[in-house]
Amino acid sequence: MSDKSTSSKTPAATATETPQVSSPPRKIYPIVKYGDPILERPGAPVKKFDAELEELAEDMFASMYAAQGVGLAAPQIGKSMRFAVVDVTCGKNPEGKIVLANPEVTHAEGEVREEEGCLSIPGFRGYVVRPQFVTVKAQNVKGEPFEIRGENLLARAFCHEIDHLNGILFLQHLGMLKRDMIRRKIKKLRKQGEW
Ligand SMILES: [Zn+2]
Repeated sequence: MSDKSTSSKTPAATATETPQVSSPPRKIYPIVKYGDPILERPGAPVKKFDAELEELAEDMFASMYAAQGVGLAAPQIGKSMRFAVVDVTCGKNPEGKIVLANPEVTHAEGEVREEEGCLSIPGFRGYVVRPQFVTVKAQNVKGEPFEIRGENLLARAFCHEIDHLNGILFLQHLGMLKRDMIRRKIKKLRKQGEW
């Protein structure tokens, strides 16, 4: 999912700050755009929880932050698997980093209508009704099962990313007129070689 805010960047680190342990350089994946069939195909369950998956998770966080998103699903980087990362703090709080392997919504409550965007559909947004609260059951990067509850933006991000793993894009939650308008504009952009 794309970030809501367009302004207020964190100020650059000052010289007086304690030097941090440098992490290995991360692979920044290009984001697959709408029109690629991988985005509309359900992903395969994650079965192998190894060092490679841990690398993938960290590279996905880095790719998501680079694209200023709050969620990124594996199909969006060309990997058809049930794997996603979410961080609604945009990297500001390490505790905000959530890895979801084989996630499922087990409980949903309330409704919130809010504007939503997607890193795979850049430049387009639309109002989508999502639950206000959700409970998600998933496995972490080590394969350990856990349950997490999300509210508002976090609930929205969970639903948006889990949709991706089922081959569903936010466009499918829009009204027909709005959806067709966005599709037409993307078609035009593609013809012009701008998509
Ligand atoms: Zn998305």
